[in-house]
Amino acid sequence: QAQKIAETDAAATALGYKNDATKVDAKKFPAYAAGKTCSNCMLYQGKATDSWGACGAMGNKLVNGKGWCAAWAKKA
Ligand code: SF4
Repeated sequence: QAQKIAETDAAATALGYKNDATKVDAKKFPAYAAGKTCSNCMLYQGKATDSWGACGAMGNKLVNGKGWCAAWAKKA
């Protein structure tokens, strides 16, 4: 069972990851826009409806479907 990422994890802080995308520091991470979340990111390994899913950008730890980080890429 994969572990949930901590926002204080080095990978998380480097990419501005937050469990709640609305808490992202948009000044520091201008790539963020409302509506972009882990659940609609290409790197999210969970189903779009899963609350948590593994993410390669976070060392395969679990990220929150409502989260976001600067490695977000639109799911094809
Ligand atoms: Fe979420 Fe995508 Fe960032 Fe992974 S790469 S933490 S799924 S926004």
